[in-house]
Amino acid sequence: MNGNHENPKPKRNPNPYRQNRPTAPKANSGEVKHNETKQEAAKPKQASAQKEPRSNTGNTSNKNNNRKPNPNRKPNPNQKTTSNKNANKGRGRRKQQPTNVSPAMKECLLENERVQQERMNPWKQISLQSKGKIRFTPLGGLGEIGGNIAVMESENSAFIIDVGMSFPDETMHGVDILVPDFSYLHTIKDKIKGIVITHSHEDHIGAMPYLFKELKFPIYATPLALAMIENKFNEHGLSADTKYFNFITKRKQYQIGDFKIEWMHMTHSIVDSSSLAIETPVGTVIHTADFKIDHTPIDGYTADLHRFAHYGAKGVLCLFSDSTNSHNPGFTKSEKVVGGTFDRLFDLAKGRVIMSTFSSNVHRITQAMERAIDHGRKICVIGRSMERNIETTRKLGYINVDDKHFIEPHEVPKYKDGDILIVTTGSQGENMAALSRMATDEHRHIKLKPSDTIIISASAIPGNEGSVSKLMNLLMKSGVTIRYKEFNDIHVSGHAAQEEQKLILRLVQPKFFLPVHGEYNHIAAHAKTAAGCGVDPRNMLLMSDGDQVEITPKFIKKVKSIKTGKRYIDNMNNKEIYDDVVVDRQKLASDGIVNISMQVSSDTKKPNGKISVSTFGIIPNKDDKRFEKEIEQIVESYFLTNKIEGSVNSKKIEEDIRGSVRKQIVRTKKLYPIIMVTAFISK
Ligand SMILES: [Zn+2]
Repeated sequence: MNGNHENPKPKRNPNPYRQNRPTAPKANSGEVKHNETKQEAAKPKQASAQKEPRSNTGNTSNKNNNRKPNPNRKPNPNQKTTSNKNANKGRGRRKQQPTNVSPAMKECLLENERVQQERMNPWKQISLQSKGKIRFTPLGGLGEIGGNIAVMESENSAFIIDVGMSFPDETMHGVDILVPDFSYLHTIKDKIKGIVITHSHEDHIGAMPYLFKELKFPIYATPLALAMIENKFNEHGLSADTKYFNFITKRKQYQIGDFKIEWMHMTHSIVDSSSLAIETPVGTVIHTADFKIDHTPIDGYTADLHRFAHYGAKGVLCLFSDSTNSHNPGFTKSEKVVGGTFDRLFDLAKGRVIMSTFSSNVHRITQAMERAIDHGRKICVIGRSMERNIETTRKLGYINVDDKHFIEPHEVPKYKDGDILIVTTGSQGENMAALSRMATDEHRHIKLKPSDTIIISASAIPGNEGSVSKLMNLLMKSGVTIRYKEFNDIHVSGHAAQEEQKLILRLVQPKFFLPVHGEYNHIAAHAKTAAGCGVDPRNMLLMSDGDQVEITPKFIKKVKSIKTGKRYIDNMNNKEIYDDVVVDRQKLASDGIVNISMQVSSDTKKPNGKISVSTFGIIPNKDDKRFEKEIEQIVESYFLTNKIEGSVNSKKIEEDIRGSVRKQIVRTKKLYPIIMVTAFISK
């Protein structure tokens, strides 16, 4: 979708409904003039000179014009093409319907029409005179799920929105997490005035310590996000960097460079999430970040829709909105429904209940804990991230469960099975997580019993389906009762479905729309939803990571491509694995390795003694001998056919032999293995 609307195309199809509109330019030029909005009345010439894309109004007004004509409405003499027809109709009906449309009524009808038009397009209040511009660049999170990071810039200042991590695919051997490439941030580091965090999910804060090892900026976030970042900083030896923390309060504006930012409370699958309202030099921009609209959240704090409406009514230039669930029709269910499922499952459970979910889903964990207490069960928390998150959220007051309800893992056997709830990690089938270790009978304290009930209160994140399925197989073999997808409401998503996306679109009614957080198909589906909600399709852009978009009151367009990418991290030591290492591992895994070594006499310029060849991952062991012989012959024929002039150069010999062997293996085996050749020079 091309979003450059500096010059609206005059050649576009005329809007067939336009002629009916009393606010259309022609109608306005006549008696309706006094009905123009203040802004239009003040500068009608400029408006047409700037060629503001009119169809923005047209789009929403299509709906208005689709409605049944009001039979009582007197024809508008300025509506040229339909006036005769309408007049005829009116004449025919006059006998039955003697309603007299008085001038006052007519004026009122027109006034209502004007008010409706103005209400549906509040962004028209934004001055088109502003010469300013802002730029927005996603460095992660578009064209992918997770790894969210973006930069917003004005002429002189910039800020970063979220610094998230993502997960590797199965070709990235030994890689545990991916963090974004920060090179663009280095190039604009003097402009960057801060980092703005929307919520504490790993895909929004997980890469913070890696960024801070290179660049440090003030961080603005709510207390929970900062507490989670502090945990990470402590792990990475960055404890001193908590001095960059700025605790924000919702419903307040913070000046960061040229931007005034308000955190608006939002519901999501983690507590204390926020959307952002950003007042920029060119107009207000709203970024939903991850969201769903939960009208019955566990903590009672609903999404602050009033603030969305507040900014929407004042006019919003651009909306960035979460596209993760763009394909889902209807509404995402409230977190509360999971509690109902837990009630049933706790009633059915005879032995221990083991509940696994995302360690960040505080409300889910709270709901399970509340059921445990109601059923007289003690709570045992197992798994590093789960223990840490529960400890942090309890300290901050987000989980209100008394100490007396908790027990340690080694105390579990002291209680009857029916008196135990274990809350644990591993719902994604992660190998090292507690649930997987229980399933493989490797857990130090918990040995599974057939009387156990295991509740998996999560769905597999795309890419994790295989490991979740493997976990299910293991659990089933152990004979436990598994409660998973067969209960519809055992898990609900944290992301908005289409009707919630529409609610935000209608509250904000932006001029421009940029769907974010999702792969291309997700953002495309979101754009379609937005078009149905009155956003002109030409005022949207489907972005990918690295697309730099310029936004002015008049247009939105892609101006540049920024270098983006991922860096590979080994979680065991929190260190980076360099690209070439990962590429070598991929080659080793897919094409194997050949190792050739020999001694070359500096006198005879021929191999001295045996040529040693070994290969791995290319042919079955039983064929090793024959294949190694083949390679030896290539080396021998090299020395027979190549006359070495001057002194013996081991580098050149190694290079030449590598080339010949590669050619042979590509030809006969269609493989590109790693080929190591070592030539020792001897007398
Ligand atoms: Zn999230």
